[in-house]
Amino acid sequence: MSPAARRPTAPDGTTLAHLATIPVRQINRVGDKRAEALAALDIDTVLDLVTHYPRRYIDRTRQADVAGMRMGEESLVLARVVAVRSRRTRQGRALVELDVDDGTGVLRVTFFNQAWRGRQLPAGTEAVFFGKLESYRGKRQFTNPVVDLVGNRTGRIVPIYPTSEKAGIAGWEFGEWVEEALRRSGSLHDPLTPAWRDELDLVDRTTAFAAIHAPESIADKERARRRLAFDELLRLQLEVVMRRQVLERDARGIRHVVGPDHAGHDHDADHDADHDADHDADRVDHGDLAGTFVSGLPFPLTDAQRRAVAEIGEDLAGPLPMHRLLQGDVGSGKTVVALCALLVAVRGGRQGALMAPTEVLAEQHFLSVRALLDGLSVPDSGRLEGRRPVAVALLTNRTGAGERAKLHEGLRSGAVDIVVGTHALLTDEVRFASLGVVVIDEQHRFGVEQRDALRVKGRDAATGEGADPDVLVMTATPIPRTAAMVVFGDLDVTELDELPAGRTPVRTVWARTPTDEDAAWQLVRDEVAAGNRAYVVCPLVEGSERVQASSATQERSRLESGPLAGLRIGLLHGQLKAADKEGVMESFRRGEIQVLVATTVIEVGVDVPEATVMVVEDADRFGIAQLHQLRGRVGRSARPSWCYLLGSAPSPEATVRLEALERSTDGFELADVDLELRGEGTILGTRQKGRSDLKLASLRRGDRPLVEAARRVAESVLAADPGLSHSPQLADEVRLFVGEEEALYLFKS
Ligand code: ADP
Ligand code: MG
Repeated sequence: MSPAARRPTAPDGTTLAHLATIPVRQINRVGDKRAEALAALDIDTVLDLVTHYPRRYIDRTRQADVAGMRMGEESLVLARVVAVRSRRTRQGRALVELDVDDGTGVLRVTFFNQAWRGRQLPAGTEAVFFGKLESYRGKRQFTNPVVDLVGNRTGRIVPIYPTSEKAGIAGWEFGEWVEEALRRSGSLHDPLTPAWRDELDLVDRTTAFAAIHAPESIADKERARRRLAFDELLRLQLEVVMRRQVLERDARGIRHVVGPDHAGHDHDADHDADHDADHDADRVDHGDLAGTFVSGLPFPLTDAQRRAVAEIGEDLAGPLPMHRLLQGDVGSGKTVVALCALLVAVRGGRQGALMAPTEVLAEQHFLSVRALLDGLSVPDSGRLEGRRPVAVALLTNRTGAGERAKLHEGLRSGAVDIVVGTHALLTDEVRFASLGVVVIDEQHRFGVEQRDALRVKGRDAATGEGADPDVLVMTATPIPRTAAMVVFGDLDVTELDELPAGRTPVRTVWARTPTDEDAAWQLVRDEVAAGNRAYVVCPLVEGSERVQASSATQERSRLESGPLAGLRIGLLHGQLKAADKEGVMESFRRGEIQVLVATTVIEVGVDVPEATVMVVEDADRFGIAQLHQLRGRVGRSARPSWCYLLGSAPSPEATVRLEALERSTDGFELADVDLELRGEGTILGTRQKGRSDLKLASLRRGDRPLVEAARRVAESVLAADPGLSHSPQLADEVRLFVGEEEALYLFKS
């Protein structure tokens, strides 16, 4: 029996955990057949039922007349079906056509690929239809409208459930089951005290559940949504705040020496007795490597970079391990900041690790790290007075066995200062002499567990000796603040909100027609003639890297003998050996190659300031974030740059994407559009399972105050009751919704 089931009710009402133990079958009129249909919608318990919220509401007070509806506008009509015709289109699609009449006029309603509508809506049925009025062959029509069978419901606001009507469950039926479930549950236990509810202007839980399913008014429904959305966010915030508290309690951090030489050495003065930080007096100090590195760069840091380096420096010098997120748009210069952090570890004779989610990204980070560190050296312990370069290594699954063994040895002995790699860094054979700083790129592609897996490599697996490295998480795909608080709630956040000076925003053109496309190729020729360079990103093709590669090869020949004849064209794809890739990139950098035809391997890290044009083929098949990343490969100098997005027949969604890219170069704004289009899942990722609890709360801007309120409540609740041991119902709830796996920290405390 799960712990949740042991505490079915609280003295002050029914808990959600209790509802999770009642099979939906116990609702009157839910027989085997209904229960099966519900199971198909993942509704097994009464809790599932009452948290299956309406998808939308129909405000019957705003009902229209068929006669009075206006073309192109969304309207709602209550009408009776007077005729039904079912047939197939010439393409073989099911087509159901209804004539519906509301007494003022007749409207044609057409459904594609919904053959079951014929059975759902026989002549004589009365239903609500909600859709956009259009004209088809002179007739007024709705295509695939929202339909609700009215039944005997009389409310002014009618909830529409995302039920599968196909499965034979009508909205009104669903509403009745929910009503019964809530009636039988009686008053619900409310984990939020009246004082908090007052302060945050939230209704109580019982009221909220009743109103979300059967609101008196739209305002009523909105109050219910706010409360229930708050609960979703509170559960997540409790989990992340708790997680953070546990991390800090068990932490044994490193007090790195940071800043100019011979300064900041009196760390003993602020020694925090609570934390057993690793700092022995005779630790090596190779001097201010990060400072030397920065002053050797051919450019000054931006103010934002300076701020970030300072914030990170404070974390590194402090007794607690850093858990910080570095957010910055494409081209904002995150790599330099990350390197400053890694070099602080090297300064103290420790090691740094940089983990990337893909081999290509890891390889490219490796190349840029190596290039940036060129010339930087540390004292060589083997040779008196001698110095050696900072040792950087690459570890991916492509690293050959011999080299890998050597590398493992170098990491164990400390001969390798900085390792760049993929998940390959997480394997058991990888042990560090002394891991000081970890940087994880594109964190949202990793799960929390993987972040932890690298973190624990600071300690000896057998003895637990050692210290926890400082962790910096970077994301190149900007995440709106609100979402960041949910997804990365346990991290501090630093934003690089500034691009290096002298960058001109890339002008982006969506080439919709063959003429536009010709203009794109013309621009490529002009720019090359002016001494600049261009990228052509090949269409995404289904299949393996091999298939991608061969399609890129074909595309290159097509361009060579077509629109780009006479130009020196190179080819880059994932199937090339690392050395060949480097060779191609080097030729492109030097200008021997003028146009680089590439797969998305150039998405990240590639850095050639002379590149001023990018042409993305079949751009409608890429996501917003990916196009934004790709586009970041141009506009890397003061020269004006262009990005042409080819795509002539995009879907409506792709149109929104391409238009957004044309309009904006602001990664945060684009991230919001993406969120709007694709929902929260894109950001939350599949690994972050518990996040699926967000049914009502939105990570978009609108719910930001709610996220912040939830954070405040979580912190206050946990300050008074760290392990939630005095609020068992709330603890159960977090476990129940956030998931046992993610709520692990509840049990550890
Ligand atoms: P991203 O944040 O996208 O990872 P990078 O770290 O790859 O950005 O930096 C983009 C480019 O800008 C690189 O060529 C880098 O060398 C350069 N760069 C970084 N910081 C500055 C700066 N302060 N001034 C000028 N160029 C910079
Ligand atoms: Mg980068």
